[in-house]
Amino acid sequence: MLVSTLGYSAAVPNNRVAHVQLHRTRGARFHVSGIPLTASRSSISRIYAAFECCGFPRIAGAFTLHIRPTDQIKDITTLDLPIALALLGHAGIIPADALRRIFSAGEMGLDGQLQSQEGTKPPIELEVPFEIPIDALLLPDGFGQKIAPWGPPGRTLRTNHLIEAVGYLQGHKTLPVIKQKKEWNHRERWNPCAETHWKSLRLSPIQMKALIIAAVGRLPLLIIGSSGTGKSLMGRALHQLLPPLREQHFAELEKPYRTKGIPFPITDRPPIRKPHHQCTSAGLLGTITQSGAWSPGELSLAHHGLLCLDELCEFSRDCIEALRGPLEDDGFLLSRAGQSRIESTANWIVATSNPCPCGRFNDGPTSCPCTKGQVQRYLQRLSGPIIERFALHLETTAVAPSDSSPTPDLLAIRDRITSTRTWLNRQPPVYSTPKANAIIQNHVSQFRSSARSLGHLTKIAQIHAAIEQYNQRKTIEIGVADVEFASQLRIFDRPRWWEKPEMQ
Ligand SMILES: [Zn+2]
Repeated sequence: MLVSTLGYSAAVPNNRVAHVQLHRTRGARFHVSGIPLTASRSSISRIYAAFECCGFPRIAGAFTLHIRPTDQIKDITTLDLPIALALLGHAGIIPADALRRIFSAGEMGLDGQLQSQEGTKPPIELEVPFEIPIDALLLPDGFGQKIAPWGPPGRTLRTNHLIEAVGYLQGHKTLPVIKQKKEWNHRERWNPCAETHWKSLRLSPIQMKALIIAAVGRLPLLIIGSSGTGKSLMGRALHQLLPPLREQHFAELEKPYRTKGIPFPITDRPPIRKPHHQCTSAGLLGTITQSGAWSPGELSLAHHGLLCLDELCEFSRDCIEALRGPLEDDGFLLSRAGQSRIESTANWIVATSNPCPCGRFNDGPTSCPCTKGQVQRYLQRLSGPIIERFALHLETTAVAPSDSSPTPDLLAIRDRITSTRTWLNRQPPVYSTPKANAIIQNHVSQFRSSARSLGHLTKIAQIHAAIEQYNQRKTIEIGVADVEFASQLRIFDRPRWWEKPEMQ
């Protein structure tokens, strides 16, 4: 006879649900499978002592206890309760069939008292609640609050003693439902003004406008310039322009962080991820292991936040090319080990790069010894399709204090971004003047721009016009100034834009 039930132990790899199976056969020995013998002996000793204290019979016979997933389970302390229930199921004290749909956990004292374990993380398999059908979750205090949100609503029952669990399964005891505290209501509130990156920016008016346009449309931005021109600082400051996370965003983000084992505080601060350039494409996109487990990558960890790729040219070719999908869509197909899954990522990608290997390109020919060939080879690390997918190309040069515009108040800028975005989301009619159209056509024919580049050019011009005309009109009119501005932010459309007359 076989009795199966579901359990939970923080020691189960990747916080998966533990399937506890107990098979009774002839003889007198207790066999175990999937767990260390010593751990199972300690557990069985505690359980038998508790049975005696609670007045249950000692259940004799030969059993094989199997716990899966079988990989690396060392500590089964909190599986005491499901193992005990499976034994009582064999003895006919509780209905064995019902146990199949019961999820329980708890370390058992010798008197039958149940305890939770420190560092509980909710199991991830329960994220898809109906994948494993569950009638009730029997959990002691401590476990209850943490695991309750992952079970079916209203079925997490407070079970602090073995007798309570048995009484419930025999049908003569009702157990109190553990109410889920809304942790989100007690979240840490993010104050973007408290961070210092924005205040430290020294930008020219064009750079400032480019950042605002990128923030309004969450457009992928490539910032290119010499070392010391504030590229990385700009990337970090852009994070302060993001809206706070909503409850649903937070719930979506929690899963990759939990799966990866990275602590994720309950806050509405959107994530910012800054992977090192030695990151692999699997590190960026995530991977699926041979056993089918998903390991999220940086893109998933930056969901609803900012992915900042510093020194993009230094990333591996694989890594750079892996960005093709994510730069264009809010999702990508992850295929590994014969399996695939669609990852949806709503993040904003900002990359920075030096234009040449020495990093002093803008400082003049005396400082930068790089030849035309070297600069060309360096920039060729970014393929045409990748560059094209970045909507804005912003060149940074050191801004003299006299040329920099005073950094506008962050709150005012955030308000302006939100209101412009809301207006654009309402899809007001957009017109462009004949002169503006002529400049667009000229840009396209002169640089043989693709449809994608043209799309980005028009989008930038449209957002520029929307920012300038907000509250003045009901329609957006794209004029010459808007298109000329947009054209300045598509520098890679111009072949060899970086070339200077003095270069060798
Ligand atoms: Zn150089």
